[in-house]
Amino acid sequence: MSDSPLISARDLSVHFKLRGGPFSKNQFLKAVEGITVDIPKGSFFGLVGESGSGKTTLGRAFLKAVPISRGEVHYADGEVEYDLQAMSKPELAEYRKRAQLIFQDPYAALSPRMTVRDIIAEPLEVMKLTSSREETDERVREIAAKCRLNLEHLRRFPHAFSGGQRQRISIARALVSSPRFIVADESVAALDVSIQADILNLLKSLQDELGLTFLFISHDLSVVAHTCDHVAVMYLGRLVETAPTRDLFDAPRHPYTKALLSAIPSLDPDHVSKAQKLEGEIPSPTNPPPGCKFHTRCPFATEICKTTEPKLEHSGHEHDVACHHWQEID
Ligand code: SF4
Repeated sequence: MSDSPLISARDLSVHFKLRGGPFSKNQFLKAVEGITVDIPKGSFFGLVGESGSGKTTLGRAFLKAVPISRGEVHYADGEVEYDLQAMSKPELAEYRKRAQLIFQDPYAALSPRMTVRDIIAEPLEVMKLTSSREETDERVREIAAKCRLNLEHLRRFPHAFSGGQRQRISIARALVSSPRFIVADESVAALDVSIQADILNLLKSLQDELGLTFLFISHDLSVVAHTCDHVAVMYLGRLVETAPTRDLFDAPRHPYTKALLSAIPSLDPDHVSKAQKLEGEIPSPTNPPPGCKFHTRCPFATEICKTTEPKLEHSGHEHDVACHHWQEID
């Protein structure tokens, strides 16, 4: 892993204008708000939080798949550098080859009417990356083998495969354009636990072999603990804590992170649960509370928490936290 970031975001916000129904003309859904983060080149970077925290929107903003409302995102892989806000059409076309998405649901992501060969070949044809059918087939066979699919698999249709095999087809399709950056959005959430391990091992070995950088979006902290080298925790569109994985799991500082970690089930029969239960629901991003967005559920909230939003600040080596009281709580 390199110290230089592949993706750098500064004060990144993604707002969606709400229309119709009960919403007034100028109401916005603030899905992502003021995110500043670096994703190191070659890292397996975890992004965690409850559903509705903005993880998927942030991942899509890094892929330039949703409009960025404010702030900056820079991509630099050593060969090319892009400001995602100011890309020309040819730069965007090149970026599409270098930054790819692996979907959550391997059942919905694959067209039932296409063979596995055609599914994997499609990005090559759409992006015009090969000049002949022979070249396309050679590249499809090469990437299929890396994803542990054989020649017989390429002739079949997706319905003939299990969930794990389908996810390997999705991974092959994402990798066929030789990307550097992969957003894996809940990519093992729909799979059985035994298959999850198989797919995670495959992603890790592909990362090593191809020098990939992953943004691994998950709500499952035990999966993140075993897979990622860095973790960022999101709550209601904001980053509330980021740290190397070991630091975050050994010494979490934000009350939200502590609550998420304490809810991980233990296999140790002697383990005495100190679960810090999360009360209530995550508030709506169309009407977020003032001050710290977590104050409506935080057992440590004080008056300042209700009025003043805490900034993400350094609390140790590569460990940042956004909480007025993290030192006292620690
Ligand atoms: Fe809790 Fe206040 Fe810290 Fe927010 S700032 S997490 S409400 S203690």
